[in-house]
Amino acid sequence: SKNKGRNTVERYSGRLSEALNEKLRLTAMLRRALEQKEYLLYYQPQQELATGKVECFEALLRWQPQSEAMIFPDKFIPILEETGMIVSVGEWVLREVCFQVTCWQTKGIAIQHASVNVSLRQFQRPDIVKELLSIVTESGVDPSIICLELTESIMMDNFRENLHKLQALRTAGFSVSIDDFGTGYSSLNYLRRMQIQELKIDRSFINALSEDTTLVNAILGMARGLGLRIVAEGVETEEQKSFLRAHNCEFMQGYLLSRPLPAEQFEAFILSLGAA
Ligand code: C2E
Ligand code: CA
Ligand code: CA
Ligand code: CA
Repeated sequence: SKNKGRNTVERYSGRLSEALNEKLRLTAMLRRALEQKEYLLYYQPQQELATGKVECFEALLRWQPQSEAMIFPDKFIPILEETGMIVSVGEWVLREVCFQVTCWQTKGIAIQHASVNVSLRQFQRPDIVKELLSIVTESGVDPSIICLELTESIMMDNFRENLHKLQALRTAGFSVSIDDFGTGYSSLNYLRRMQIQELKIDRSFINALSEDTTLVNAILGMARGLGLRIVAEGVETEEQKSFLRAHNCEFMQGYLLSRPLPAEQFEAFILSLGAA
């Protein structure tokens, strides 16, 4: 029994150092990922429910290290945030989105709304508004099609300073969305005072629609009252879609419409809708 205890401890610390080693390995690889051009973007379409139109997307980051399988954000975004690398990667993401939007424009594919995820770590930078604006201005893209997705965590620290940043983003022409809405801490009063233009209903609430519609209904009513664009995330079934349409949710995003797609497949998807 004494033996058994020691084995458990050894196994536990073994697993711990394994996880640590893996993290160190990924961190070292991530330090070279930008210059090695290992990042890529996937584009997940959003559909306007009233018209069926698809002219919007959210850009989602992927990492494809040489000779390894593609890695999803949950595995590496936390490391980018901890090390501060998210700042330069975030700039790359915005530049890449602008480049892609411009490419599509020249091909006659007009994107109306392009969403980009922005980490709190990025948003906390004193000059974030100037930095984002200079990337978009350089690309020639109209900032009014760029939507910056932030989480409710921005309501928790430096509220006054964040209010100013949101105001400045608005003045620059960007729109701002609150991502995963309903999962974090948010005060309705803060929400009202903040310059935001969109709410994304977290997919956990969409997933629970078959058992409980009260939360989604409340969020829809509130968003309408505040005049916000509203997007339902993680829509996977026709039942969810028809509920949302019937309750005047403006946009949906989710596997039912499409998974996130590489640029060429996103383009083919849009063109196939036009032809239909
Ligand atoms: P998110 O911003 O909430 O993005 C939505 C996530 O839900 C994406 O996961 C997407 O692939 C997934 N999803 C979309 N539709 C469905 C559906 O119908 N069902 C289910 N089960 N899932 C669906 P992904 O791409 O793995 O991204 C995970 C998270 O990583 C994102 O969550 C976001 O917080 C973060 N992230 C992704 N790209 C970036 C980026 O460029 N910058 C930053 N800072 N964070 C990013
Ligand atoms: Ca998002
Ligand atoms: Ca989300
Ligand atoms: Ca999320």
